[in-house]
Amino acid sequence: MEKYKILIDLSSIKKNENAGQTTTVIPGRKTVSFEAYQLPEYFKHEENCYINEWTEIDGIKTNVKGIITSDELIQKCIDEKLNVNISVDFERQHVNHFPIPEYSYDYENTKVICNSCEKEIMTKDIQSEEYFDGEDDYYSDTVCPLCGAFDCCDLSHESIEDALKRAGKN
Ligand SMILES: [Zn+2]
Repeated sequence: MEKYKILIDLSSIKKNENAGQTTTVIPGRKTVSFEAYQLPEYFKHEENCYINEWTEIDGIKTNVKGIITSDELIQKCIDEKLNVNISVDFERQHVNHFPIPEYSYDYENTKVICNSCEKEIMTKDIQSEEYFDGEDDYYSDTVCPLCGAFDCCDLSHESIEDALKRAGKN
């Protein structure tokens, strides 16, 4: 069986700034809180905001605080320069993952021949598939896109170390 060497596309090699990092912080849900001495009338509790706190003086709500739930209302506060202070908070989510490798890269799309149907196929079209026949589990990461044969070719992928040598960066 012919063994194909699949080379790394040298122009795709990128050094990862965050190599080794195992946690990424991503902004999560947005909370917009507001504070106003007197609240404009189009703040409607449970419609476009939640009013959580206030002081009542002579039947008038003052020092009102709460959360805005409508993007339209947020925009109105910004556009019309209302006497409402708004502040935006993003919940931060920490996502754990395997350490980020030092480099990221792609392999060159390479023409190979399927062992089963003997037609030319491109490595980027090769599929990986799992198949369970009721008893055993089969897995292949070289499934022919034309005939569906498992293990349709023998690929050997270049290592990043070799690619860096080839690029003269190491
Ligand atoms: Zn095939």
